[in-house]
Amino acid sequence: MTDLYGQLFQKVLYPGWESGLRGRPTLAHLEQLKRTEWCSTDELHAIQTTGLQQLLEHAQTHVPHYRRRLRHAGLQASDVTAVSDLAKFPLLTRDDASDSFEERKSTSTPLPEIKKMTSGSTGHPLSFAYDRGSEYWRQAMKLRGYGWAGYQPGDRSLHFWGSTAAVHHIPRHARTKSAVDHLIRREHYINCADHSEGALANVVEQIRALSPSVILCYAQAGAALGRYIVETKCRDWQDIPIISAAERLFPADRAVLVEAFGPGVFETYGNREVMLIAAECEAHDGLHVSMENLIVEVVVRDESSERAADPGELGEVVITDLHNYGAPFIRYLTGDLAVQRPEQQCACGRWLGRLHAVEGRVTDTLRDGLGRPIGGMFFIVLFAALAHKVRAFQVVQHKDRSVDLKLVPGAEFDDSLLEGVKRACSKAIPGVALRTQVVAEIPLGPGGKTRVVVVEN
Ligand SMILES: [Zn+2]
Repeated sequence: MTDLYGQLFQKVLYPGWESGLRGRPTLAHLEQLKRTEWCSTDELHAIQTTGLQQLLEHAQTHVPHYRRRLRHAGLQASDVTAVSDLAKFPLLTRDDASDSFEERKSTSTPLPEIKKMTSGSTGHPLSFAYDRGSEYWRQAMKLRGYGWAGYQPGDRSLHFWGSTAAVHHIPRHARTKSAVDHLIRREHYINCADHSEGALANVVEQIRALSPSVILCYAQAGAALGRYIVETKCRDWQDIPIISAAERLFPADRAVLVEAFGPGVFETYGNREVMLIAAECEAHDGLHVSMENLIVEVVVRDESSERAADPGELGEVVITDLHNYGAPFIRYLTGDLAVQRPEQQCACGRWLGRLHAVEGRVTDTLRDGLGRPIGGMFFIVLFAALAHKVRAFQVVQHKDRSVDLKLVPGAEFDDSLLEGVKRACSKAIPGVALRTQVVAEIPLGPGGKTRVVVVEN
């Protein structure tokens, strides 16, 4: 429910700030996106094709890396007449993206004015950049996606969130500016790196004190909070919509969030390189892709070939950012895996393409004793089925292929379970040394994210 301040913020303060004082087109983009989200598939593809043609023309003329790549592939930007033509272009791996960073910068306006870095789950940092025009599209897309969960700028929001300041070394003046920004927007931040009972009890107190209109959380931190609320039976509030981000939201985690906060649980998927990639709508049936800003492909490849994933098939998520002219990402392999869905109208009425939940990282592939790949999904499925017995887990495969499995016991845990888990794991990933350990908490990675499957390279 939007209160008086919220209404004032949405109608007066925010438009005045964004459009008037700063001359930003974010809100104009948002208005456009609120119209185009109801377009047909053909209309959406037409928007993408036009965007792609303009991006490729720019890249061919002003971006040395892509000029060379296009020449190599024997292609011209003008060869593109449909989104499907994109498949003729080579993929950009994370290593390529890193090596080509300087060469991928535009030599003409718009220049890559905003520079960022992602630590990535592989431990190899990636520098990237984009222009201001791209930033406005990113912000507008985020506002639309969050809006599906009922969130409006100016609503009182609680962010149970990773500390980006700690990870990305944001300078002090920028932190102060960002703190003021948060205050005006009524965004309240709590660092989610601490999942201890005391910390979770504090979050509950903050929820009571703030009565937030929406809670935004890292998926695993939110799940830990939800479990704490359910176990201590401390819920005394009406339904609050939850927007989960940064990590996959597993079915057992969603169930516990529904119990703690009500049925409005919305998963989102994005990364630092392009921001919001897909978001869940009110029909809660997959995540709608940010089609007007990004072309998202799900690709199946082996050493010699690649093809689009069939509906229902798992593949690698490949992104083309239609509005980043400053240092373009064209067919960038994100490192994420997702399941493709057929192009069908959603129950919400939108034709925007959808992904099934994003299933994990490409790097989450373990190796058995013979070196054969074993998807980390095995563990995710196994422990989803044991949600009442095992509250959290982490699998770490070391360089010598030995595996450490850490388990946090749940309400119905008993020691006999360990033997069963060991047997199942030995069968799934034979020929490796497996150690199990019962622990109180899973250690958090940088920025408050929990990684459930870690493969050390
Ligand atoms: Zn929908």
